[in-house]
Amino acid sequence: MAHQADNTFLPIDGIERFRFRCHRGVSCFTECCRQLDLALSPYDVLRLKQAKKLHSGRFLEQYVIIEWEEGALFPGCYLTMVDDGRASCVFVDQQGCQVYPDRPAACRAYPVGRGASRQADGSVTQQYLLIKEPHCKGFAEAGEQNTQDYFTDQGLAEYNRFNDALTELVHHPAVSAGFRPNRVQAEQYLLALYNLDSFRGELADGRVSLCRPLTPTELSGVAGDDRELLLLAIRWLLQEFFGT
Ligand code: SF4
Ligand code: SF4
Repeated sequence: MAHQADNTFLPIDGIERFRFRCHRGVSCFTECCRQLDLALSPYDVLRLKQAKKLHSGRFLEQYVIIEWEEGALFPGCYLTMVDDGRASCVFVDQQGCQVYPDRPAACRAYPVGRGASRQADGSVTQQYLLIKEPHCKGFAEAGEQNTQDYFTDQGLAEYNRFNDALTELVHHPAVSAGFRPNRVQAEQYLLALYNLDSFRGELADGRVSLCRPLTPTELSGVAGDDRELLLLAIRWLLQEFFGT
């Protein structure tokens, strides 16, 4: 994830085997947690704010840098880095990752990058890249696996489920046709997807609503289930942005 001029990016498929193993004994332990742009998905923030036991609004204030400008695509949310001369992740210490059970998808997948795109028939296709950075010694360790097994070991299925659900919004045909959110829509995007606790409050008091009655599963999201609320948030944004 760090920025290096001589990185190597190798396209791989899900079943191609690659040599790699990461463990606490590697000489580069936590090197990949420094000097990085760590983009956070809505599900990453859901997991992290739960792990830190924080209201989502407080979590955003404390740990997230938001980037967006008029005319741009959807806002980007990035994990804050510490000003320690190494631009270290705010969650890394000498023991490793303080939020390891709830670490973001990009940290789990590393050194594999995953791209997902939604097709016209609604299916989601995946592309993988093996990222070989000079500082990462894991490629010299004994251990071999394919991407599918690696992702299973890293607990990525749950993350990919929510990230793929989001493609219905961010890869909507209207986006390809030129849709760009205005300032109000950018704020709606951040509220619904990243500030779930505030979104729940606005749903509960009627400030935002769907143009149909909520299903029992959606009501469980309003009542407290963050995962169901995130899926409801995607549907609400599809309604607000594209009338679907
Ligand atoms: S969240 Fe954890 S694994 Fe990811 S960069 Fe930060 S310390 Fe490293
Ligand atoms: S082996 Fe690679 S992934 Fe593991 S700690 Fe070192 S740099 Fe990070």
